[in-house]
Amino acid sequence: MDSGSIVHAEKMQCSQCGKEYPLDKIAFRCRCEGSLDIIYDYKNVRKFILMADFIREPPWHWKYWMFYPVDDLTKSISFQEGGTPLLFSKSIGTEIGCELYFKYEGINPTGSFKDRGSSIEITKAFEMGKSSVCCASTGNMGASVSSYAAKAGIDCKVFVPENTPRLKIAQILGYGADVIKVKGTYADCLRLTEEVNRRYDVYLLGDYPYRCEGQKSVGFEIVDQFYWNVPDYIICPMGNGTLTRAIWKSLLELREVRLIDELPKIVGVQSEGCSPIVDALKNDIKKPIAIRKAKTIADAIACEDPIDGTEALDAIRESEGFAEVVSDEEILNSQKLLGRSEGLFAEPSGAVSTAGLIKYRERFKGKKVVCIITGHGLKRAPIGETPEIKTIKNNSNELDKIYP
Ligand SMILES: [Zn+2]
Repeated sequence: MDSGSIVHAEKMQCSQCGKEYPLDKIAFRCRCEGSLDIIYDYKNVRKFILMADFIREPPWHWKYWMFYPVDDLTKSISFQEGGTPLLFSKSIGTEIGCELYFKYEGINPTGSFKDRGSSIEITKAFEMGKSSVCCASTGNMGASVSSYAAKAGIDCKVFVPENTPRLKIAQILGYGADVIKVKGTYADCLRLTEEVNRRYDVYLLGDYPYRCEGQKSVGFEIVDQFYWNVPDYIICPMGNGTLTRAIWKSLLELREVRLIDELPKIVGVQSEGCSPIVDALKNDIKKPIAIRKAKTIADAIACEDPIDGTEALDAIRESEGFAEVVSDEEILNSQKLLGRSEGLFAEPSGAVSTAGLIKYRERFKGKKVVCIITGHGLKRAPIGETPEIKTIKNNSNELDKIYP
């Protein structure tokens, strides 16, 4: 990682209407509601790649600093996030007949892929001298920003929907942030935090431009881990659609700086109980149609009105990929299978990509596929009874019951 001031981000531009915004203006989205992309001087980015010891450095989040809008790397807020393993699947891949890899994001510092985006967002908030931040969260983003805000010495408030899993709330509280439980949905929390930002001078965190820039490192790392080759498919769980959008942007940027010349197909998977992005694709509509209240075990992707939904749809369409839904039962079965046959513990939302792979297995036969597992299983308490647990008396004679 280089140090000192390196400014190579040029401007923000609306992904939908093309309107440009200067970088020194704080803008969360365009007036037309489109998401904002950060545009770089890619000739300059390429120069940094060629100059530095870039290719030999092991993959991790800040290796790709030239693709981030950060002015001074010495002030970055980081827990050495990223650098997550890309694991070859012997069991599920063989069963399906594809060359399968899991990008296991559960080992990030707070247990989910969100840490990549938080690192960039909190670094920017710190750069701008913000003393107070807030965000809406289904749990994972809240835990992640709380941790980074604590490190930066910034006050943090997290608005969560009332059905947020208690382990996720405990994690947010553990990092010293305030939790505000809203009697409503994730979409309601989002609306309230945007209101907080307008009314009080509190900086807004969430699936906005800086986070998307940080999430790109999932895509950078996958290609880097394949020695600058791309797979045929990348399968993503979709909530707000930010990860899908970010991965696609990372691939377009790698092509722009001539590190790759091919692009994979992007597959987005949602839960049946909250599928506004998939519904739009199936009905050939440009933008997602918001739903009233999500009902799914995959609570981390229960986003009723996805902020980056239009951009995720654009990514899927441009890449000639597809999007599908899976049921709660299929999600839980995949979660079990990941644990038992691959040794990977995923939270239900993280297992959604694998559920999609298994359900639509015919489409992946003979292909090179990456499934992104977005969060660790420890983030979510099991629901209901766990009949697998055997209980015995504290007596060695009881052992015969276990080893008959
Ligand atoms: Zn616009």
